[in-house]
Amino acid sequence: MKSKIESRFLANYVLMFIISTIVAISAFMLLSFASDVISKNLVKNNYTAESLMQDDYKIIDTTQVTNNGGGVQVIDTNYELIYTAGINTISKDKLTTAEFTNFLIESKSIGIDYSYSIEFNSREQFWLVVTFPTSIRIDMDFAYNKDIHSVDKHATIGVIIAVILFYFLLLSICTVIYSKLTSISIINPLKKLCNSASRLKDGDYTSRVDLNLKNEFGELEYIFNEMAEQIQKEIYLRKQSEENRKRLILDISHDLKNPIASIMGYAEFSLNKLDLSKQEHDEFMKIIYENSMRANNLVNELFELSRMESSEYSLNKTSVDICEYMRGELGFFINNLDKAGFIYEIKIPEKEIFIEIDLKQMSRVIQNLVANAVKYNTKGTLLIIHLFEQDGGVVIIFKDNGIGIPTEIAKNIFQPFVRVDIARNSQTGGTGLGLAIVKKIIETHGGSICVKTEVNCGCEFIINMPQI
Ligand code: ADP
Repeated sequence: MKSKIESRFLANYVLMFIISTIVAISAFMLLSFASDVISKNLVKNNYTAESLMQDDYKIIDTTQVTNNGGGVQVIDTNYELIYTAGINTISKDKLTTAEFTNFLIESKSIGIDYSYSIEFNSREQFWLVVTFPTSIRIDMDFAYNKDIHSVDKHATIGVIIAVILFYFLLLSICTVIYSKLTSISIINPLKKLCNSASRLKDGDYTSRVDLNLKNEFGELEYIFNEMAEQIQKEIYLRKQSEENRKRLILDISHDLKNPIASIMGYAEFSLNKLDLSKQEHDEFMKIIYENSMRANNLVNELFELSRMESSEYSLNKTSVDICEYMRGELGFFINNLDKAGFIYEIKIPEKEIFIEIDLKQMSRVIQNLVANAVKYNTKGTLLIIHLFEQDGGVVIIFKDNGIGIPTEIAKNIFQPFVRVDIARNSQTGGTGLGLAIVKKIIETHGGSICVKTEVNCGCEFIINMPQI
């Protein structure tokens, strides 16, 4: 990838190099043309000493020169200034031979403030000097005389070729350096991005890019890191759900194995033992019945839970006054609580609070939480059921002061098959699916459930339900 981008950049800059050379040559030609056009229009070129020359200098028409800001001087062979009109740059009336020679030499030099046109009248023996202040000067022209001396010609051509070669060399070096620098600023971040992407591809989901750039690469870095974060989360969730699935299958098979083994064992024993007494027979039948009930409960609850988890599952919601509904539902359990020797306190406000619920499923939630309190706690336990409004929703609390749940187990108590004491459950007949179903029902209603508990300090199940 590196070489491809680099050569692409080099090709682009070579193209730029050719274009800039063509542009430079065109600019040079345009300037030459402009210089030509300007020089044709300059007054100094329209009123030269040659064009104004007359044998009698007194009849020379100087008006156009002076009107255009110039001057005319006539100098005789004794270097005396015998006539002057307009501006005069010759400060003296009489010059020495050396001064006049200097004046002639300087008048030809470039960069002075005045431009001079000097012509010698050989018949009348005088110099005519026409002076104009220097206006715009663009000296862009080639002069080629075919009579040029070969030494001069070679030297000039050599210098020109050397300058052109040097120009091309400098431009080439700049092109290579510039293309290299630009490609580095692209290749380096790309390399880092490629490395991180390939680490991600190879399964390192912690892979991130750190470019510290504020350009488009910075944006790409942000998008890449967000994407990697998302993938990492997804993979974690997938792994977790895979582990949960495995654990669920293991728990199901384990929980079904015991009652089925017991049913099979007692049934086989009853069949083979011909001299079974009536008492033994009844006892075995009772065990078979209890274990088949246990297996049946487990299968039913599992079916219910997986039905709730399917995408087609929906609630049959109706709008009810939750206070009235709770009072009615709890009425069914009073007898059970009394029988179990429980002390209970029900705090439900005397007002109407409407929420939307699936009556059958909500009844299951209440039944499960009250039944658990009774099932896992002893006589004399206090059960408080409290309903109140909070933050635009309804809070329903089921709190007992019984044996509680160890903190470590409480963290996962809403997961299927999580139980405190498996032996204790065998006696009570619990499947370990009740709270998982409760949580599912509450969450499908758009609410939430949590538990506050400690060993020997009881359990407090807190349900938050949204109000209409
Ligand atoms: P189970 O069918 O075993 O009752 P649940 O999911 O309803 O399954 O409850 C999970 C476990 O949580 C129970 O086995 C029990 O150990 C514990 N538990 C639930 N409610 C209470 C409670 N009120 N007091 C003490 N332990 C409880």
